[in-house]
Amino acid sequence: PSTHNAHSLDLPPCGTCMVDQGPSAGAQGHAKRPHTDGKVYYSYLDVHHTVAAMVDRLRDFAPDVIVAIGGGGFIPARILRTHLRIPIVAISVQLYNDATDSLLNEVACLQWVEERALKGKRVLLVDEVDDTRTTLQYCVSAMLAAGSAGPEALAVAVMHNKLKAKRAALPRHILYVAGAEVPDAWNCYPWDAERYGHTIEEHEELARQGSGQADTSLQFVRAWQWWLRWAKGSGVGLGPGIQQGSWKGFVTGAVL
Ligand code: 5GP
Repeated sequence: PSTHNAHSLDLPPCGTCMVDQGPSAGAQGHAKRPHTDGKVYYSYLDVHHTVAAMVDRLRDFAPDVIVAIGGGGFIPARILRTHLRIPIVAISVQLYNDATDSLLNEVACLQWVEERALKGKRVLLVDEVDDTRTTLQYCVSAMLAAGSAGPEALAVAVMHNKLKAKRAALPRHILYVAGAEVPDAWNCYPWDAERYGHTIEEHEELARQGSGQADTSLQFVRAWQWWLRWAKGSGVGLGPGIQQGSWKGFVTGAVL
């Protein structure tokens, strides 16, 4: 994972940013290829591994409580809780309108936490993806605005940090950990499978294809179907021809 004091990596320094560009920590993770629709699909296994990759760095911070930013931060936060063994509290803020799939002009706060849940605590703020950084900036600013009634220390953990120029920034003293640095594409997460018109099985298969690992059982079925079609179409009977064709069919079907 990359750990730095919050700015996107491998980009020129941002003039409006409050923080320096951090060192490149080589957190590219397992690079995923975008699907033909331009989106990048992540499986539950990808999510689990990428979140787990942050644990050691986060243990060093020794958080007392996780604040999960809903809805995308909930599952990463829950995975972290198993490792860190600290409570989760939830907040809900929105920058995207799910109903219209469009960007809102400003962050809308749907739910916040009671002051006493954070006062004097070491707080770990968790979200699934840092895109423009607007959401993180909103949450961090609101927590810091509480002053002595707020957290003693604050860190941010995101599963994915998109490598792009950010619209917002985080203060220098905030520890920032990303599970992986990813290209600036739309990421599809497994809990959203139906939102993109897929069953969870289809989603997981798209995620596997993006990793260059097509499902081998699916390849076997495809190869078998190809062979049946070939054998039927060519009208061959049992004999040396079909023997030859069967291997050709399996290999061709698996590649297709
Ligand atoms: P930001 O405020 O950094 O622009 O956006 C953060 C929020 O926007 C995330 O918590 C997430 O809900 C949503 N978001 C931004 N980019 C993506 C993406 O690529 N995929 C998904 N599923 N949500 C995204």
